[in-house]
Amino acid sequence: MREALVVGGGPAGAALAIRLAKAGTDVLLAEKEAEAHHKVCGEFLSQGAVLRLHRLGVLPEALCAHPIDRVRLVRGERMVEARLPFRALSLSRKRLDEALLERAEFAGVGVMRGLRVTRLEREGEAWVNTVSLGGDGRSKSVFLASGKHDIRDRHRPPGGHDDLLGFKQHWRLSPDATEALRGAVELHLFDGGYAGLERVEDGIANLCLVVRKSAFSAWPELLDRLKRTPLGQRLEGGEPCWPRPLAVSAIPYGHVQTTSDGLWRLGDQAAVIPSFLGEGMAMALMSAEEAADAYLDGKPAGDFQARFAKAVGPRVKAATLLSRRLVEPMGQRLAMAAPAFLVSAVAGAARV
Ligand SMILES: Cc1cc2nc3c(=O)[nH]c(=O)nc-3n(C[C@H](O)[C@H](O)[C@H](O)COP(=O)(O)OP(=O)(O)OC[C@H]3O[C@@H](n4cnc5c(N)ncnc54)[C@H](O)[C@@H]3O)c2cc1C
Repeated sequence: MREALVVGGGPAGAALAIRLAKAGTDVLLAEKEAEAHHKVCGEFLSQGAVLRLHRLGVLPEALCAHPIDRVRLVRGERMVEARLPFRALSLSRKRLDEALLERAEFAGVGVMRGLRVTRLEREGEAWVNTVSLGGDGRSKSVFLASGKHDIRDRHRPPGGHDDLLGFKQHWRLSPDATEALRGAVELHLFDGGYAGLERVEDGIANLCLVVRKSAFSAWPELLDRLKRTPLGQRLEGGEPCWPRPLAVSAIPYGHVQTTSDGLWRLGDQAAVIPSFLGEGMAMALMSAEEAADAYLDGKPAGDFQARFAKAVGPRVKAATLLSRRLVEPMGQRLAMAAPAFLVSAVAGAARV
């Protein structure tokens, strides 16, 4: 029986596995995707996330992350800009997550790619996991870091704001639009949703948005609608890097796991903060740090889960309330009237 199994090789799973392996724990990480892949994400790395990545030995700067120090809010014909209280970075998840997994392998983690864990069952002192390729394994402890995806029979409740769809598409923008985005992240507010636009590495821009299910019928229709807003000026003359966007539905924004059935839940399995209003990756990395410390101190999973919920719960709740307002016309008007408030709310929520 192995000591620890980590399910999922995103920031939470990889960070936890690195820390345990460095402390001498025999740890296996199962990642369902066989290769580096894109994920629905704004790809904005706050200062907190960058610091935590540095501690793991992963340097986004060395991976050509784009620096960001300003945020612009855009609605209708109005645009307001504010300086961020910290320097952020922006890097594609494909590059970042791959660097984390490489770091994990280097630290001695047994990284199994293309291996999906389909079921987890408790049998006496052991966790038995079933995998997609058939067969099963036994571990003393299991860290569930499967992000957006729930394992069979272990579903998260819906959360406080769960009627949003998420989309992401990388774009090669025109030279003018690429230059206009230097050092800035733009948040475009539109009827029923909001979209983030920022540069990542190699001169590519990431368009990532959430939209209410009721305001969505099909991607081409939504894109046409967005092109009739100021976002259209940024996209004009540009080309999407992929024919169709990546999409995610039923995001349980606002979910916070307060108890444990013996599993250690990390990252989005521990708490889901709304996109652009808090910093999911920093929280995922923080959950990994705290879980690793608790595990290595011999504490039970329940202790960590309760403490983590207490630390991040109020921020997740505040960001969820804000997110509900930000898809409504009145909330959007208020955000435009007080952009500094929104920026400080975002920065405060991000500072985990
Ligand atoms: C629209 C949107 C925009 C966002 N924008 C930002 C942003 O700009 N900045 C930010 O910090 N955060 C952002 N987030 C949040 C951020 O993406 C997440 O908080 C973060 O990815 C959580 O990390 P994680 O490791 O928990 O999960 P993930 O990154 O989702 O990783 C989970 C991994 O587990 C693997 N997996 C899943 N199921 C299994 C299984 N059964 N067996 C094996 N492997 C499995 C998956 O393939 C994946 O690699 C955004 C989220 C959304 C939805």
